[in-house]
Amino acid sequence: MEQPSSLLRLLPGIDQLLQTEQAQALMQTYSPALVTQALREALETLRVHIRSGAVKTLEMDDILSSAKAILMRAQRMDHRPVINATGILLHTNLGRAPMANRAGEAAKQAAISYTNLEYDVQTGKRGDRLVPIVNALLAVTGVEDALVVNNNAAAVLLALSALAKGQEVIVSRGELVEIGGSFRVPDVMAQSGCTLVEIGTTNKTRLADYEQAIHDETAALMKVHTSNYQIIGFTQSVEMADLARLAKQRGLHAIYDLGSGAMLPLSPYGLLMEPLVKDALSQGADVVCFSGDKLLGGPQSGIILGKKEPIAKMKKHPLMRALRADKMSLAALEATLLLYQDEGIAKRELPLYRMLNESVDTLKARAETLLSLLDKPARSVARMIDSQAQVGGGSAPGETLPSIALSFAPEHIGLNELYLRLSQAETPVIARVHQDSLLVEMRTVRDEELQPLADAIRLALSQEAS
Ligand SMILES: *Cc1c(COP(=O)(O)O)cnc(C)c1O
Repeated sequence: MEQPSSLLRLLPGIDQLLQTEQAQALMQTYSPALVTQALREALETLRVHIRSGAVKTLEMDDILSSAKAILMRAQRMDHRPVINATGILLHTNLGRAPMANRAGEAAKQAAISYTNLEYDVQTGKRGDRLVPIVNALLAVTGVEDALVVNNNAAAVLLALSALAKGQEVIVSRGELVEIGGSFRVPDVMAQSGCTLVEIGTTNKTRLADYEQAIHDETAALMKVHTSNYQIIGFTQSVEMADLARLAKQRGLHAIYDLGSGAMLPLSPYGLLMEPLVKDALSQGADVVCFSGDKLLGGPQSGIILGKKEPIAKMKKHPLMRALRADKMSLAALEATLLLYQDEGIAKRELPLYRMLNESVDTLKARAETLLSLLDKPARSVARMIDSQAQVGGGSAPGETLPSIALSFAPEHIGLNELYLRLSQAETPVIARVHQDSLLVEMRTVRDEELQPLADAIRLALSQEAS
């Protein structure tokens, strides 16, 4: 065994390390400058460990493999897939729902090739990036015209700016929604240069309230779906059909911010509160806005459906250029909409509908498999329980889906510590702390994720409390 000082003198130089076979191999992938820098870092770390006495013998291979690890770590993306064990299907912090494979493929193809984004291959002339997507929207919804922007917040901003700038828009006090991430109806209204006219009370708004508020300066009546809350008890609100009739009589726009934009009925899953896109249209709204990445299950985008004239005004508005969607989102959205041509295909291919559809028995079987992948100590603190999943992400507020979870109540580590360890796992696992246990929900987990999930749980529980 060497003394630290003599060991330090024995350390190889960078030039010597660069000559090794392993370093040469690394330079097939990484530039000489990057390899040199990684070797320096590896040597520096080794010096520290030698001085502290933690390292007592010198292995050339160790230096090279730690340099390799440094290079690989630097290449690793911070942005990566995580396992959603929260039971919240549309989890905004986790990127809302995964898209269908076909949509993902379409986005990838658009990303890595040239595309006919603004080129009409039939005529050989310049084209409009929205034409394919508008056609797909018309085919699925039967609407007169349509438009796509970056997200629903942008859609509402554009609709109000193009249709009501400098004028008044009437909204019920019960619908002055705030969506997480600072989308507030009054603020969007101010930003678009409209004056918000609040009517009714928090719990009750009648058609007469709208009628009385209309005057020369009024441009539109707007209805906002209360996506993330419910008002229950002594309540009253005005249906879109009545609002649309009134708007038509007075020559005003009837704008409906639908939030989620469900294309398929959710009643088979016990979710009754979400309005459907086709109902919003048939009730006579002349502009309907919703997100592409909530219940539609597509990429982040804002979809605007409506009558020709208001949509034409929006298309011409200067904000349109600032809010336009990119080629990857448009490709993914078109692929998603094509799935809706057949309800069966949509339900099979969209991960969101697969999650909604799974029976409690399927979830139980998934929990059993997960239990079987754990080791004994982890299994001994786990219990399968009935639980509840939620749609989340500003959809179906207050409504739940029956679910199954594994509940962990270990004695040797705190729940917050366990939660953090899971979120820091190789494949991060985002779980849920509920009362005195940590829940790993089965409705938002896929079978392919069970192995990395089990690995993360096993490791998290095997370490002592820090
Ligand atoms: C979610 C939501 C929005 C914002 O949509 P994004 O696509 O997240 O920008 C606006 N209005 C309502 C009613 C919503 O539910």
